[in-house]
Amino acid sequence: MSAQLLDGNALSKTLKAEIKEDAAAFTTQHGVTPTLAVVRIGADEAAAGYARAIEKNCKSVGVAYQAHALGEATTQEEAAALVRRLSSDPLVHGVMILEPIAPGLQLDVLIDLIDPVKDVDGVHPVNAGRLLANRPPFMIPATPAGGLRMLEEAGVSFQGKRAVVVGRSEIVGKPMALLLLHRHCTVTIAHSRTVDLPGLCRSADILCVAVGRAEMVQGDWIKPGAVVVDFGTNYTEAGLKGDCQQASVAEVASMLTPVPGGTGPMTNAMLMANVLQAAKLAAGQ
Ligand code: NDP
Repeated sequence: MSAQLLDGNALSKTLKAEIKEDAAAFTTQHGVTPTLAVVRIGADEAAAGYARAIEKNCKSVGVAYQAHALGEATTQEEAAALVRRLSSDPLVHGVMILEPIAPGLQLDVLIDLIDPVKDVDGVHPVNAGRLLANRPPFMIPATPAGGLRMLEEAGVSFQGKRAVVVGRSEIVGKPMALLLLHRHCTVTIAHSRTVDLPGLCRSADILCVAVGRAEMVQGDWIKPGAVVVDFGTNYTEAGLKGDCQQASVAEVASMLTPVPGGTGPMTNAMLMANVLQAAKLAAGQ
């Protein structure tokens, strides 16, 4: 078998074209452009690069981008004051804090200060709790939202399927597991202490991997015909690699999200969808 590779580039392009139209219509109707405020605290290079990528992403769909960069010596109180100000600014629809932040600051305390309606990263406990309870409206973190959307677009059926999610982070693994549970999959969450991970993965009809270890999952971990979502983004000497060894996994799976060109571009599209959703909620739509 050679798996169908699900094209995240193409789907994100289609979605972003729709978001761009929607954002323009919103701007015309309300006289205000959907706006994302991005907070960066400290000198981390990866966070700076991520901020540039988000700015480009915003521009591509007509979302206004506000950069708020605080220095390495910022105090918790100064960072909190900024997050509070953005959360209460009616002209800001989405607020996100880029990781990592300067050492010594408490990220969780800052996240708690984001207005849940503006939490386009889906990291505020109110959004996490509403997702757990499956009580909309809530913001779904962009990466699992994108992975799920790829499966839906590919016509994957969920009900009664055995799903295994490897990784239990708040931003990818846990929300992906909940999204699959709410679609009536029977879900197991695996992590670094899981015993016989290959055996567990082999039981999955739908396998989602969000670990951060290049090419950890091999073809012989895969149930024949399984659907595999690879969230891994690992920069190696051989280039960008997923958490799955693409060639061997594609031999056994029926569908696979490739890296690059799978869940990565979808994350960009879904983040912009969240900003638009936040703007609409603020406008009472
Ligand atoms: P985290 O580091 O927060 O979580 C990693 C998870 O993997 C943890 O739950 C950890 O277990 C588990 N894990 C680590 N090693 C193993 C192992 N050997 N066997 C089984 N489980 C293991 O990472 P994220 O969730 O933030 O990201 C995961 C991957 O997804 C990364 O490659 C990241 O770059 C990528 N990513 C991709 C995005 C995209 O747009 N496609 C966006 C965000 C992330 P434990 O909890 O026990 O420590």
